[in-house]
Amino acid sequence: MNKIEKVVIICGYRCNNNCVFCINSGKRHINDKSTTQILREMLDARERGKVYIEFIGGEITIRPDTFMLIKQAKKMGFASVNMATNGRMLSYPDFAKRLVDSGIDELIFSIHGHEPGLHDSLTRVSGSFNELVQGLKNVRKFGLKKVASNTTIVKANYMHLPDIGKFLLGHGVTNSEFIFADPTYGGVHDDFFSLMPRISEAAPFIRKCLALSKNNKSIRHWHIRYVPLCYFRGYLKNISEIHEVENFHTEHLAPDFRNQDVENSRKNISRQKPSQCRGCKLFGLCEGIWKEYLIKYGAGELKNIKSRDN
Ligand code: SF4
Repeated sequence: MNKIEKVVIICGYRCNNNCVFCINSGKRHINDKSTTQILREMLDARERGKVYIEFIGGEITIRPDTFMLIKQAKKMGFASVNMATNGRMLSYPDFAKRLVDSGIDELIFSIHGHEPGLHDSLTRVSGSFNELVQGLKNVRKFGLKKVASNTTIVKANYMHLPDIGKFLLGHGVTNSEFIFADPTYGGVHDDFFSLMPRISEAAPFIRKCLALSKNNKSIRHWHIRYVPLCYFRGYLKNISEIHEVENFHTEHLAPDFRNQDVENSRKNISRQKPSQCRGCKLFGLCEGIWKEYLIKYGAGELKNIKSRDN
């Protein structure tokens, strides 16, 4: 099967939230890309056959060229134009309407809690949850059909994942990624023991959240990312990396790096299968666990699987 050619344009690292786990917390001093640079990258990506584009930040909606970039992406012929957002700017109805009218295909909201106290404590912006919820309602009201989400899993929210899942479904979000925190750089690297959950403790809650997708035909995508598979044997259909490797060829274009083979570099650079994994029946499918996790917590929680069915 031909893979979907995907380009992720990281426009810059400026943001109007200040999330505790932000992978880019050490990069805020780097200048955002100019409009010209982004347009040039988009054209170049189209010429190289990319058909799926995703704009991420930082936060794109605080850029003055947001609507223009979306419109240009459509004009250039990208089949699917997507954007990640913390949703706060979309609480302004005029802004939400302009964004929907610009032709965006899907918005991916960053939602880290199911209620204001939890979400706002993670974004460190009081009121950010209520703005996000208003933003979600606005874009749906103005006709956006596809609404997605990502949720970063840290110590403070893992036990609430089943409620977060129910909250998402209640707001029409049927394409969700649950992301086990990445301690390679940024906030979780710098404050590892306060933020990084133990996989053995988080996994039961993650599984309960993933189980919400069983027998729910309205759900398009309900996936967990960056986890060792030994805790998810019954959920291999919900593993992001397996889906991604099978379906996408992705490149990331950031202000400070270019990565033209995201799927392979992640498993080769940041993650590891330690000696415990040798002979595991899931070895070929699994990307292991973060190297930084192994350094700090060790490999004692990993469970070498003797049979795909056990
Ligand atoms: S033991 Fe290692 S290879 Fe097997 S599922 Fe766990 S992390 Fe993956």
